[in-house]
Amino acid sequence: MSTPTKRLIADYVLCCDDDFTIYAPGAIDIQGSKIAWVGPAGEAPPAAPPQTIKLSGVLMPGLVNTHCHTPMTLMRGAGDGLALQAWLEDVMWPREGRMTPEDTRWGMVLGATEMLLAGVTTSCEMYLDEEAVVAGAKQVGSRLVMTPGIVLELRQYASLSARIAEIADYHKAVHDSEGLVTVGIAPHSAYILGVEGCVEVSQAAQERDMLLHIHIGETSSEAAELEEKYGTSVVQVLADHGVFEAQTLSAHSIWLSDQDLDSFAEFNVAVAHCPVSNMKLGSGVARVLDMLKRGITVGLGTDGPGSNNTLDLWEEVKLAPMLARIATADASSLNSQEVLKMATSQGAKAVGLNEVGSLEPGNFADIIHISLDTPSFTPICDTSDLVAHLVWSGGSRDITDVWVAGERVVRDGQCQTVDLDQARHEVQQRAVRLAS
Ligand SMILES: [Zn+2]
Repeated sequence: MSTPTKRLIADYVLCCDDDFTIYAPGAIDIQGSKIAWVGPAGEAPPAAPPQTIKLSGVLMPGLVNTHCHTPMTLMRGAGDGLALQAWLEDVMWPREGRMTPEDTRWGMVLGATEMLLAGVTTSCEMYLDEEAVVAGAKQVGSRLVMTPGIVLELRQYASLSARIAEIADYHKAVHDSEGLVTVGIAPHSAYILGVEGCVEVSQAAQERDMLLHIHIGETSSEAAELEEKYGTSVVQVLADHGVFEAQTLSAHSIWLSDQDLDSFAEFNVAVAHCPVSNMKLGSGVARVLDMLKRGITVGLGTDGPGSNNTLDLWEEVKLAPMLARIATADASSLNSQEVLKMATSQGAKAVGLNEVGSLEPGNFADIIHISLDTPSFTPICDTSDLVAHLVWSGGSRDITDVWVAGERVVRDGQCQTVDLDQARHEVQQRAVRLAS
């Protein structure tokens, strides 16, 4: 390997690897888009790279938002207080039906910028108009797992097969495991596509090794008709029909029985846990501890800004353990290390990225810097205090710098890639039109 191009040094380097390694102080050498070396600052390779950046505070992997519909920044806050189905059918879908690809692109630009500023470097997006979503993310310079959505009612597709073929072609043209964009496929849900529809999508996903991203069990009643028809739970129906033979990411996944969770474990179905959206829409409490006990991979997701209403994943970092603890009346449920891994390495695994989510040689240099020179990070008597502060009192307001694939896209709290005022103006104008 040729000489690294830059070295980052900080008071703490939090790797979020399997052992939850912390170097204090630590250093990271970056070669192109990848991490070449990480370890104690005093043991860094003697040949220092041409550029060395010394920072106080902490360096850690960028966060991974495992379930999102980011262009819904255009509908942020709309329909506040409605139940899920009414919110979708009366407020969201009519506006989404009027959205143009340019609307989608600007919604993504604004949302991806909001995420980068909060230290969220990767998002897994379920949305229509995939070209526009990808164009928006590329403009911002964030990492994207694009899973083009399948909701036939919202666009003029000739048939399900035609939409699947379109996504397969898109995957072939755009998926790049060494670049910033990977491509999966996203049947909205079994209750919208039907079981046979999900089977058809899954077969296409298996043939091309695409991530299958689907909503399951967000509300207790959404799949009642389907479950009555088949005489068993939606998870069992999908499992019995081979849908989970594809690498599957299941969003929300609240209303799952023991048997359903066993099936998720058996088929390696990962879960995008969305505690803020689930609480805000009154959907229920996902059984995260029962998932982790079974070895199910669980990441964190904001869900769309229509239902959250922020893309700041640090809220999920704080609220996931709170929700788990209130549900079990046990303060030892879901500790700080576990939840930080869910936000980083486990989230990356859930969305099918093997070289993202932890600071290790060979991984992409997706790194965030958090200043500790603030009241909420004081005092730190040992590294366990730092970890606790990150989860309970830190959050996005202290993110100062962000690198994606080695590129510094946020510097001193300012996004370097887009004009934020312009993005805000575009979304404001377009949102007013969509609402009328
Ligand atoms: Zn969703």
